[in-house]
Amino acid sequence: MGYQFCDCHTHSEFSACAEDVTLAGYAERARDTSLHFAITDHSAQVFYPPDQRWGFWSDDAVEIFERCRPQGRRRIIEYVAAVRAAQRGNMLVGTELDVLPDGRIVFPEGVLGSLDVVLGAVHAMPTLRHERPLDEIRAEFRFQVEALADHGMEVLVHPYRLLLAADVPVGAELIEWTVRCAAERGFALEINSHKTYAEHDLAMVRAAVEAGVPLAVGTDTHRWSEFGDFSYHVEILTRAGLPETSWPGVLWRPRPRAREAAAG
Ligand SMILES: [Zn+2]
Ligand SMILES: [Zn+2]
Repeated sequence: MGYQFCDCHTHSEFSACAEDVTLAGYAERARDTSLHFAITDHSAQVFYPPDQRWGFWSDDAVEIFERCRPQGRRRIIEYVAAVRAAQRGNMLVGTELDVLPDGRIVFPEGVLGSLDVVLGAVHAMPTLRHERPLDEIRAEFRFQVEALADHGMEVLVHPYRLLLAADVPVGAELIEWTVRCAAERGFALEINSHKTYAEHDLAMVRAAVEAGVPLAVGTDTHRWSEFGDFSYHVEILTRAGLPETSWPGVLWRPRPRAREAAAG
């Protein structure tokens, strides 16, 4: 295969749910291979206190956020510096941005612009946790996606995972809404191979291509066995009728900001 994918989405030990992956391991692989990838740890798990790394997923998310803001800011800045210091080859520095139920992002002001890749995810929804009616759940989903777009999200990752994992039906209407929002707000949609929902991915890919919305490729690596494996993405693109020759025109690629600046 000739096309060189760019994996927009990988995790390191800075994410609480990461398994055997480490920043040092990525740096080694970036030095020894030509793989293009971005390190994108969960912003909430870097920002929240080390003994409350899952605090964002609780009903106390806002309270903990308020309490730890100065330290959270420092932890994010140190994280970005650590990944920059480890950067080798075609490795990029990013985040998987979390958004609070009130629409604020779990990230310090003024730091997102220094990253190469800004992913956004809907990771925690009070309406889902409290088993609210479906229309409230879908409204909260749309609110969080729009909040992430307001803050400059470049790629919405695993768009429907949280809903589908909770058995919330995701129909054509919600997929069309997401694609329309992506087209209007200028973000890409991710094909994610960490937990796969092939039928929904296929519907999303077809609608995105139709609307001219770029598709991002992410492994969402939590363990080394996932890293560099694009077989699921190839399968979805192929099933959607997109031959390899069309990929440069439909797949999103990051524009590394720091490097552009360095190159003048
Ligand atoms: Zn995620
Ligand atoms: Zn992820």
